[in-house]
Amino acid sequence: MPSRSALLSQRSLILALLLLLACGFLATSLISYFASRSAIRDGIVNTELPLTSDTVYSEIQKDLIRPVLIASMMAQDTFLRDWVLAGEQDTQRITRYLGEVMGKQDIFTSFFVSDRSLTYYQAKGVLKQVVPDTWRDAWYFRLRQMQAPYEINVDVDMANQDSLTVFINYRVLDYQQRFIGAAGVGLSVDAVIKLIDNYQLRYQRSVFFTDAQGKVILTGSHGAPHDLKVGQPLADNADLKALLAQRPTPAEGSHEYNDSEGHSHFLNVRQLPELGWYLMVDKRETGTLDHIRHSLYLNLVICAMITLVVLCLLNGMLRRHRASTEALATLDSLTGLPNRRSFDVLAAQALKDAQRNCAPLVALLIDLDHFKVLNDTHGHLAGDEVLRQFANVLQSSLRQSDILCRWGGEEFIVLLRETEGRQALEVAQKIRRRTEQLTFNYEENPLRLTTSIGVSALQPGDSLHALLTRADRALYRAKQSGRNCVCSETPESGHD
Ligand code: GH3
Ligand code: MG
Ligand code: MG
Repeated sequence: MPSRSALLSQRSLILALLLLLACGFLATSLISYFASRSAIRDGIVNTELPLTSDTVYSEIQKDLIRPVLIASMMAQDTFLRDWVLAGEQDTQRITRYLGEVMGKQDIFTSFFVSDRSLTYYQAKGVLKQVVPDTWRDAWYFRLRQMQAPYEINVDVDMANQDSLTVFINYRVLDYQQRFIGAAGVGLSVDAVIKLIDNYQLRYQRSVFFTDAQGKVILTGSHGAPHDLKVGQPLADNADLKALLAQRPTPAEGSHEYNDSEGHSHFLNVRQLPELGWYLMVDKRETGTLDHIRHSLYLNLVICAMITLVVLCLLNGMLRRHRASTEALATLDSLTGLPNRRSFDVLAAQALKDAQRNCAPLVALLIDLDHFKVLNDTHGHLAGDEVLRQFANVLQSSLRQSDILCRWGGEEFIVLLRETEGRQALEVAQKIRRRTEQLTFNYEENPLRLTTSIGVSALQPGDSLHALLTRADRALYRAKQSGRNCVCSETPESGHD
């Protein structure tokens, strides 16, 4: 039986190995996961998003800022100013001028509103008179009061079936810097939305614009991220709020944040000074890092499987090792018979069975005669060989249910279960006779031996010690009687 402490130390060895493997695998998998994640994140934050932002910015410059320049040119055009100062004679001249601006620059609409007559001119002719305190014309009266030279306004265009339009409204001043009207151009929002959709599709990220107050101005046709609507401030979204920190828009540059579903986002913010807007490029991390997360899970599964296999192999090895050391501890290494240690266990059980069932049990103590002489004459190795062969003789003379063990040196002990005294004497005589008749072989040398046997039957209330002591006494008598004989002893009879 392995000791408790041996079992415990085996268990702690397996546990330590398990921990070591698990920690090692976990550490290497996590290190490589975090290294690739941070490389990908760095790529997104430092290269991808700024690049997209730059590209979108240059496209915007082409598509939105150019109209601002056109409106600026209109506001400083001497023809326009002279025509107004000359009393707005000949409407055809201004409508032709506005048509020219529109046609050449591929612009959706162009206009001029005179401050003197409050007339709204466009390429098709006079559209209307602007009227103070009406929501449609509020922009004009706002522009009139403004310090800034222009504003960009997303509004409905009456001249184009009230379709949503980005207007660039420029203040027109006379040569003495007095306000004389508003000139500018309009771009269809549909066209701008198409542009944004195009960028989003091309770069696989959300593109939208806010004004300086953080209000969403323009998004693609699918809206801004987090369901933000045009006109809503960024602060309305709890996910973005953390980035704002007392400001209406996040600071220029790259940011990272988590949305309410736990997805990581990267946001690049860039100011468009020409428009007074902010360009936001938002990218959800999912997808980008999915494949390295999958490879992490795969790594961990493989590591767990390897750990499991190693553990199974180790466990099997330890079990086999334990079984063999256990066998070694209970068997005699020379003869392969149970040793004295295991005899104690087997005999205690046999005694208990016999006493419970009131069954007979007989002990035979067997000792080879003059074995020392054989050792001295033929050598120790010859003695060993004889012991092995004698063990075979004993084994073949007994039943499977009998207990046979090497008691020590050239002494053997046998417990015959369910065997009466007379039968036991016959078995002992059989062993004695077979030994006497047998020629043992060692290196072609025929060796002859005899054996003496002491026999004792179990008595009611006997202990193992009492039984063996009687068998030992009987053996002593057999030796005294000239050896090669069987003697038995019972408590009443003494001996026979
Ligand atoms: P007796 O007839 O009185 O039993 O004489 P004996 O020589 O057999 O008895 P004794 O006890 O004097 O000697 C036993 C010898 O058995 C002595 C010891 O060296 C030898 N012996 C004990 N164990 C082994 C063993 O494993 N191998 C060998 N070769 N010899 C052994
Ligand atoms: Mg002896
Ligand atoms: Mg002997």
